[in-house]
Formats: sequence, structure tokens, C-alpha cells
Amino acid sequence: DSVARKIAAGEVIDRPNSVVRELLDNSIDAGSTEISLYLENGGISRIRVVDNGCGMSEEDLRLCYLPHATSKIETEDDLLSINSLGFRGEALSSISTCTRMEVVSRREEDDTAHRLIVHGGREIALEDWRGSRGTIIDASELFYSIPARKKFLKRSSAETTMCQKTFLEKALPFPEISFKLYTDNNLKLFLPASTRKERILAAWKGTFNPSLLHELESEDEGFKISIIAGRPEQNRKDRRYIQIFANNRRIDEYAFIQAVQYGFDDALPGGVFPVCFVFIEVEPHLVDFNIHPAKREARFRNQPAIHHKIVQMIKDFLAEYTFRFRT
Ligand code: ADP
Ligand code: MG
Repeated sequence: DSVARKIAAGEVIDRPNSVVRELLDNSIDAGSTEISLYLENGGISRIRVVDNGCGMSEEDLRLCYLPHATSKIETEDDLLSINSLGFRGEALSSISTCTRMEVVSRREEDDTAHRLIVHGGREIALEDWRGSRGTIIDASELFYSIPARKKFLKRSSAETTMCQKTFLEKALPFPEISFKLYTDNNLKLFLPASTRKERILAAWKGTFNPSLLHELESEDEGFKISIIAGRPEQNRKDRRYIQIFANNRRIDEYAFIQAVQYGFDDALPGGVFPVCFVFIEVEPHLVDFNIHPAKREARFRNQPAIHHKIVQMIKDFLAEYTFRFRT
């Protein structure tokens, strides 16, 4: 019933950046090459995502916001072979429950676009509409239907900062996709399609010296690792730029952060942290992401091997480039 649905929605969506996370995941899963995110008032008034992905048919729209109607998991085995970012089929259901949601979508092969409007989980309209290939999702008035939740939202500037962080986390593993972020109609970040290294330079414009960032690659049984490693202009006293991604999701895996620090141990003075972005690709059956969508956790069956490889890659790199770090 509707109370249960509101509680379930609150599990998935707790502030604007959870809507951002889910909508960007969907646009990426749809095979988009261009994705734009628009925030109004920190996402509290409106979050809009425009993509040029595969789009949805009228029938897809009819189902997309119904809880679990679109789950990609039918058997337990499916859990072991997930390639998409989304699989639970609960994001649009949750978003539509706690906002006024409008979706305009069109597939290449359809004659028209369609528009779906759902307010607080209630369908208002599903009709022919105009639009080009891809999807536009508008989620406005967050928590208008759940006032108790609204109290927990912060100032719009704080919500904007959190949304921007989520935006970067989503954009970093997909340098081949062009991303734009608009806040209150101003273009705040433009990340054109590029390489991994260029994506990182564009995401934190002016922060890193391009000639001090290096790309390392390696693979082993069941996994591949690519690392962008370097050091910032000023000695960093925090781990902000040590970031771990697994199968295109940011994770907080302390063991791998330690692996990075251990690898750099001899090259940097104590208390100074490197810049190191680690992108791990693991065969789906060796990793379990099936935990809460808002948590950044994963379990790896081959964790020791990955740990070892990260340390080794960094040590090998430093053996070659130490002169750059000393000067
Ligand atoms: P999940 O991503 O777990 O499948 P969601 O609730 O996030 O569930 O989305 C439901 C379904 O709606 C997706 O499986 C997908 O088929 C469709 N969908 C959502 N967003 C888009 C989009 N931007 N482009 C194309 N299809 C989409
Ligand atoms: Mg999804």
C-alpha cells in the first residue's frame, strides 16, 4: 500500500543526490553518449536528466515506475552476471513516489515520443508527445508527498555540493560519455568525451599538473586494473584523491585505499597522500554489489590478488619515475 511504498522509497532516496545517482545510472545503462544534469535549488526544487540513450516505448513507460516490474533479476544466477548499474527495478518507483515525476522518452524506431506523469506514485497521464530519441526525466518538489523527510534536507548549496560529487563519481568511470552539469541554469561543469586522464583533469580543472599524472594498466585472472597515478601540486594531507572504482561504481574499500598508500609509501613523505584513481574491472561472479544501493560497498572473492596487484603496479611505476617525485 502507499505507506509501505513511501517507506521503501525513503530507503532508496534520502536526498537529492540519491535521485541524481539513480537517474545517471539509468542514462548510462541506456547506452547514452551525452548526458546532461540540471539542478534547481540544489535539486530540492527540480532534478532533470536529459540523455540520448535507447529510450522507452509506451509499454516501457507504463511499467517503469511500478515497483520491481522491471527487475532484471529473475533467478539467483542472474545476480552473478550483472553488467548494468541498475538491476533492482526500484529507483523510478521510489523517485515517482516522493516527487512529481515527468518522463518524456522516445525510441529510435517509434513514430512519436511518449510522456508519463506520476505524482507521488499516482499516474496522472500517459500520452503521445513530441521529442527526439532518448529520455528526459524531471523529478520536482522532492518529498512534497513525504513532509517528514523534507526536514532533513540541508541548504541548497550543501545539497548542490553533494549532487556535484555524485555527478563526478558517475562521470569518472565513463570518459567516453559527454556529461554536463547545470546548476540553476548555469553550465557548471562540462566533461567532453575524452580519455580517463583527460576526464580527471577536466573534473578538477587546474588541480593537477597533466605531466605528473600517469596511466598504468594491468590484468590478471578474473580482473583488470587501470590506475591514474600522480601527485598534486601541493602536498595533500587527506585522501580525497585516492578513489577506488569497481565495475564502474565508486566504492569505499579501505583495503584497496591501504594498498595505494602502501604502494606509495617510500615515495612520499609521511602524512602526504598521492593522487590515485583506481578502476577495477572484475568478472561479475567474483564480486557482490548486492547490498544497499546507497552504500558504497562490495565484496570481492579475489580481494587479496587485487590488493597485491595494486601495490605492485604502483611500486613498478615508482621504480621508473621516482625522479619526478623527488623534484
Ligand atoms: P533498474 O535500473 O534497476 O532496472 P529503474 O527503476 O532505475 O530500475 O528503471 C526502470 C527501468 O526503466 C529500467 O530497467 C529501464 O528499462 C527503464 N529506464 C529508466 N531510465 C531510462 C533511461 N534514461 N533510458 C532508457 N530506459 C530507462
Ligand atoms: Mg536504475
